[in-house]
Amino acid sequence: MATISEQLKQWAIQFSNDRGIEKDGIQREIAEAETRLALLNARLVEVEESRLRQSTFIPERDGVYQCPRCWIRTGTASALKPVAIGVVVDREIDQFVCSTCGFDEGFDV
Ligand SMILES: [Zn+2]
Repeated sequence: MATISEQLKQWAIQFSNDRGIEKDGIQREIAEAETRLALLNARLVEVEESRLRQSTFIPERDGVYQCPRCWIRTGTASALKPVAIGVVVDREIDQFVCSTCGFDEGFDV
């Protein structure tokens, strides 16, 4: 029969093992958080860079209107396609759509 001291040592081993399992879980969570942080930092850099493109946006190239969303998001010059000319609530508008990103807007003329 084990002494009380020996039994207490066994309890200490058990509690220590439990903390080891807890440690593994914490390390896994830290690794996941670091991965998420790296992705967020990469997105932040990309967003900051895209905002700088605003000053270089050219709305019309060779007589073709350009998509502001494509330029800001990806730096791509995408042509806007005229899809309609009409009157909406007593306003004459020209409607354009971007086939790349789906930007769809009517403009007063
Ligand atoms: Zn677009």
